[in-house]
Amino acid sequence: MTKKALIAGGGIAGPVTAMALRRAGIDSEVFEAYDRGSDGVGAFLTLAVNGLEALRPLDLHDLVGDLGMDSSRMLMLNGRGRPLAATRQPSRTLKRADLYRVLRDEAVRRGVRIHYGRRLTDASITETGVRAAFADGSTAEGDLLIGADGLHSRTRAIIDAGAPRARHVGLLNTGGFARGVEVPGEPGTSHFVFGRRCFFGYLIHPDGEVWWFANPPSPREPTPEELAAITPARWRARLTELFGDDTGPMLDIIGATDHIMPGWNTYDFPTVPKWFNERMVILGDAAHATSPSSGQGASMAIEDAVVLAKCLRDVPGTRDAFAAFEAARRKRVERIVEQGRRNGSGKAQGAVGAFFRDLALPVIMRRLDRRNALAWMYDHRISWNEPASAASG
Ligand SMILES: Cc1cc2nc3c(=O)[nH]c(=O)nc-3n(C[C@H](O)[C@H](O)[C@H](O)COP(=O)(O)OP(=O)(O)OC[C@H]3O[C@@H](n4cnc5c(N)ncnc54)[C@H](O)[C@@H]3O)c2cc1C
Repeated sequence: MTKKALIAGGGIAGPVTAMALRRAGIDSEVFEAYDRGSDGVGAFLTLAVNGLEALRPLDLHDLVGDLGMDSSRMLMLNGRGRPLAATRQPSRTLKRADLYRVLRDEAVRRGVRIHYGRRLTDASITETGVRAAFADGSTAEGDLLIGADGLHSRTRAIIDAGAPRARHVGLLNTGGFARGVEVPGEPGTSHFVFGRRCFFGYLIHPDGEVWWFANPPSPREPTPEELAAITPARWRARLTELFGDDTGPMLDIIGATDHIMPGWNTYDFPTVPKWFNERMVILGDAAHATSPSSGQGASMAIEDAVVLAKCLRDVPGTRDAFAAFEAARRKRVERIVEQGRRNGSGKAQGAVGAFFRDLALPVIMRRLDRRNALAWMYDHRISWNEPASAASG
């Protein structure tokens, strides 16, 4: 029986995993690379209904349920302002910093120890468990190590030195929060605009603030230094140029934004072959980052945390518990990564591609809605009480 887990990464998956383990009767400690929490950092993300429901067995649903805004309606338009499709799926859009803060605070309130400035650099299997080594020269020991250390996971590389790198999907991200601007639409509707040269998304918060993001195409992956060198003024000029020929409120929204966020790259992972070894396992973005176009990154991380805790609670033997976790999760998360890739592929189209997209999208969306074809994604529920079973085969 696992008594103590070491968790590398104190983002979203880290604190939720620690709370799920606690509920399963397993102690854990979280080791976060940065010397403080990521309060106030990041833009916003979507928690789909399946992600919200995965918080329920941990009694975290109500904490998160009031953050941000309900964003259940989605409207897609082209760069001429023509509506292409509308759909509805229960979800909330919230600032990543708010989600992080409530989960971290609640984990601490429940007694989880979170250590900052502890960047995992190495880990080795010992006779009784695992020893983790950190960049500050310290070490820690436990029965197992869980890598919740995100997209560029060190744990993933420790488990498999040949693990693939995240794939750049050819898009950048930037965005911001605009005030004092009147834009078309109802609060809580996600508006997605396929501009001629750039994709744009916005939501109107009930308090009037407009939350937005843009995905400028970038066939090449810029380095973090190159991205950091782009000043807010240069972002503003670039976005103004990209949306100059489009119909829609994009330029008004950008103009009403005091602070345009520094850009970041967009990645996904088609597949990570090895998720675990005898004593180490990865979850969340470390195992299966999905492009933001799926709207499922945080939801998948939360589902993973709950399922892994159940497997460690119910399946005897660490390795078998990890195998049960993978068996329960891999098919689902890879299907979602693929869905995100498909959603994102229409974001940077030439004129011919855009012509066919405008014809096809309304038909595809109507068909998806009619058949409830995405029920597999949104209707997924995890029962905490039902025992996890060992992987077959
Ligand atoms: C600062 C920040 C801001 C973000 N903002 C957005 C956003 O605006 N919109 C969006 O859609 N997604 C955002 N994300 C990503 C989003 O949180 C994840 O896609 C999703 O929630 C899955 O969570 P995760 O816990 O697996 O990964 P993450 O949330 O990325 O958390 C991983 C954590 O591991 C830590 N870490 C990394 N390497 C090590 C190491 N070697 N040792 C110890 N700790 C390590 C990181 O510092 C981080 O705190 C952001 C992530 C971060 C870290």
